[in-house]
Amino acid sequence: MMGATAILRKMSETTVRWVCDSCNEWIEDAGAAEVIFTYDSSRAKGHRIVHKSMGERNCSDVSALSYGLESVLGEDGLARLLSDAERSDIASLTGVTHRVHVPYYEAAR
Ligand SMILES: [Zn+2]
Repeated sequence: MMGATAILRKMSETTVRWVCDSCNEWIEDAGAAEVIFTYDSSRAKGHRIVHKSMGERNCSDVSALSYGLESVLGEDGLARLLSDAERSDIASLTGVTHRVHVPYYEAAR
C-alpha cells in the first residue's frame, strides 16, 4: 500500500515528461518543447510533441505551426486545447490532449 504522501508525490510526477515524436528521447523540460501541427482544409492536424529545435537538436519542423508545450499545461492549457476542437482534426487533437492531461497516459503509450 502506498501512503498518501507517496501517492501525492506520484501524482505530481504524472505527465511531467513526454517522449519526443521526432527523436524518441525524453522531453524533461516542457519549456524546451512544443506542439507542432499542420493545416489541411482549415483543420489543424498531425499534432506532435517535439523538442524545440535549439543547439544540436533539430526535432521541430520549421514549416509546421507550433505553440509552446507550456501553453497547453494546466487548466488554462486544457481550455486552450478544447477551444481548438472546432478547427482541428479530433483524433489528432485528442491524442495530444490525452498525452498532456491524462495521468499516466504518456507512460503507458
Ligand atoms: Zn526530440
